[in-house]
Amino acid sequence: MKIGIFGGTFNPPHLGHLAAARAAIDVLGLDKLLIIPAAIPPHKELPEGTPASGHRLAMAAKLADALLLPGVAEVSPMELERQGKSYTSDTLEALHKQYPEARLWLLMGTDMFLTLHLWHDPETILKRAGICAFGRTEQDGEAVFAPQREHLQKSFPKADITTITLPGLVDISSTKLRELLAKGEGAEYLHPCVYGYILMKGLYGTRADLKHLDIPELRACSYAMVQEKRVRHIRGTEEEAVRLARRWGANEDYARRAGILHDCTKYLTGEEHIAICEQYGVPLDDLERTAPKLLHSKTGACMARHIFGEPDEVYEAIFWHTTAKADMTVLEKILYVADYMEPNRDFDGVERLRELAYQDLDKALLLGVETTIQEMRERQLPIHSNTAQAQAWLRDHGVTTEG
Ligand code: ATP
Repeated sequence: MKIGIFGGTFNPPHLGHLAAARAAIDVLGLDKLLIIPAAIPPHKELPEGTPASGHRLAMAAKLADALLLPGVAEVSPMELERQGKSYTSDTLEALHKQYPEARLWLLMGTDMFLTLHLWHDPETILKRAGICAFGRTEQDGEAVFAPQREHLQKSFPKADITTITLPGLVDISSTKLRELLAKGEGAEYLHPCVYGYILMKGLYGTRADLKHLDIPELRACSYAMVQEKRVRHIRGTEEEAVRLARRWGANEDYARRAGILHDCTKYLTGEEHIAICEQYGVPLDDLERTAPKLLHSKTGACMARHIFGEPDEVYEAIFWHTTAKADMTVLEKILYVADYMEPNRDFDGVERLRELAYQDLDKALLLGVETTIQEMRERQLPIHSNTAQAQAWLRDHGVTTEG
């Protein structure tokens, strides 16, 4: 087993870190990559205003999740949990004990590589792990790496050093990024889920007014609240909702915002959902109390209204996007249908739903509602009363799925 170890302060983690992690996984063929935020880095002070270590851990976890390699890329709190300075030699000894059979690879950028001989206990470091060094800028070529590699190999004959070139080199440091963030800039150097986390927690001097975010910021916040694997679906729903709004003359901005936020609470626990509903006075029936899948639309709507300042129309569209209900507005229908048939959805009958969505929105809504009812019956699950009422209302108003 090959394990990559990527240490740093990750204050905050940026796209340069992401490019390095991705390239190291590919080139070294890693089975596991551990991203390990340092508690007290031995060679640099944590600057004033550094967020609490829990935030750095959470942001590093988001970076790991952004790689979309579950089971491979993980964050480890081991240095944050250890007392005192975070010496890499201690980390490698601990990992060697934990994975005695594994080949460890220590990943580092140019700045770290060029000073490696000055680190605490370099013998242990070079005994326990191979070194995988990569440039941080276009200038960091072989001319920069070769003398240090020779020096290390002479001083530590067992040293195993490999240098790799990052295909997606991003010339940025966390120091520079912190300066940019404090001026309201720098989003382009961050993965959206990390940027959203920073905005929502108000880290690094960002003072975003969450109730008046522009679209890229709203997307970032939504993506920060979910797992990366859900983002494709959220993007698809946003795009489909906007197309449908254009087709049916609804407010495109509202459709976009509802699409962006509709699943933002998808990963909360049942208890968290219930707490939010209680906080904002959303009544719940017995079925909803036991089915978190039904609750995320209600809590998503609460976030949209109370955290992101969205208007009633967006609140209502998100609120009804899972169960549907009798007598829906055009925007509510659009979000329901877009969520059902956005381009990433793949199930028997989705093509028919896609056709209907642009021909007759009510027919598409009824087809969606009836597909859900059918699925619930097959799985012997209860059908929510609002879903049954949506079906009855549409049928009473002469809607069929024919034609
Ligand atoms: P700071 O500016 O606060 O010193 P940093 O940007 O150097 O931070 P660290 O968290 O200290 O980030 O870096 C962790 C590791 O990532 C180090 O090995 C570093 O060399 C490497 N690294 C940092 N930035 C980049 C980048 N843009 N491209 C590739 N590697 C990078």
